[in-house]
Amino acid sequence: MAAPSAAPQRIVIENAAIATVDAQDTEYASGYLVVAGNRIESLGAGKAPENLENVVRRIDATGHLITPGLVNTHHHFYQWITRGLATDHNLFNWLVALYPTWARIDEQMVRVAAQGSLAMMARGGVTTAMDHHYVFPQGSGDLSGAIIGAASEMGVRFTLARGSMDRSEKDGGLPPDFAVETTEGALAATEETVKKHHDASFDSMTQVAVAPCSPFSISTELLREGAALGRRLGVRMHTHGSETVEEEKFCHELFGMGPTDYFESTGFLGEDVWMAHCVHMNDSDIAAFARTKTGVAHCPSSNARLAAGIARVPDMLKAGVPVGLGVDGTASNESGELHTELRNALLINRLGAHRESALNARQALRLGTYGGAQVLGRADNIGSLEAGKLADFVLWKIDGLGHSSIADPVTAIVFGAAAPVTASFVNGKQIVENNRLLTVDEDTIARDARTEAQRLARIAAQA
Ligand SMILES: [Zn+2]
Repeated sequence: MAAPSAAPQRIVIENAAIATVDAQDTEYASGYLVVAGNRIESLGAGKAPENLENVVRRIDATGHLITPGLVNTHHHFYQWITRGLATDHNLFNWLVALYPTWARIDEQMVRVAAQGSLAMMARGGVTTAMDHHYVFPQGSGDLSGAIIGAASEMGVRFTLARGSMDRSEKDGGLPPDFAVETTEGALAATEETVKKHHDASFDSMTQVAVAPCSPFSISTELLREGAALGRRLGVRMHTHGSETVEEEKFCHELFGMGPTDYFESTGFLGEDVWMAHCVHMNDSDIAAFARTKTGVAHCPSSNARLAAGIARVPDMLKAGVPVGLGVDGTASNESGELHTELRNALLINRLGAHRESALNARQALRLGTYGGAQVLGRADNIGSLEAGKLADFVLWKIDGLGHSSIADPVTAIVFGAAAPVTASFVNGKQIVENNRLLTVDEDTIARDARTEAQRLARIAAQA
């Protein structure tokens, strides 16, 4: 006879300011949050209900703001071991400078780079990460397995966007010939990765998306067949789009239309698609995204680093386009943090046409939480603090030097310095305490990352 299932263990957190990021932007100046198992059971103003059973832990969160965990929607983990190179380049020159090095990565390098990228984000309040991995050199091992293993070891919720490239220099693309896969090979490997790793359940820790890299590194066939594959398998699709003026020119020359029209002509727009950057969008492009409910991963620091331009986030939000935030790869955003992107999204958008009304602190927090959950297709289970949703949340310390004199908690974490993370929970389990990861050893990862960065540089120099 099966044993009766144990009642869920409860964690009670009290005396915190809470920003729920629910549909009404409900906030509590002093409130409580009760976790039962891996779900949020209840939350509200004042003290937690009395007489709760099976409480295994009580946290007095005085001096803290609780928000939903941050959701990253665009990244390239492998770049962790090629940071600080080609620092004064635009996108195309930067890619051409780095592809030959990237094409030498192996499984051990990718594993360590994934650990570094994940650790940097997780200690700063990211609870759901994603990696768009598109460099699969022949004979380099099980790169997807290494990346997914790193995320699962760290305890972070994760989407792997299985990328691909099949348009090399000989076909008018940017990557060198030896850095790409065949069209058929890329599609077959992507399908295999989805079948092996994608979990569609409510509390899934691992999902997989179909993610051809960008118009200048993939064939039209790979884009079209990729969209068809994603829909056949019932998973999401991701790619880069409208990042720079050079890309727009490339699309007009090769396809006779701009990037958004090109994507739509291949089936690569839709509510199951999200796209990184979307900087150079005219009104009709934004209308196409709104009409098709295509999501956007806004990457303000990377766009600034590569001098790409300012995405029209206020116009996208006004049109109803789902928008999340992305770190982007750390070869174009060396900090590798997402919590600083809340501030950068707000500041950079205020340099655009809408000036001081572009974004406010609450909108910035929403981009980094609920907006991210929307574009990853997970808004039903993460992205806001609501009873029944998964227990992914962060306790930001706001009573220290950096924040204690800022008038309002949400303003403090968006406008102020990066706030210390006292605790971060994913799926009801604590993974960060006082800015240190509990699941992995940061110092070991730092050491290994330096070793692998040097090994890659050596191999690339000999090639
Ligand atoms: Zn990218």
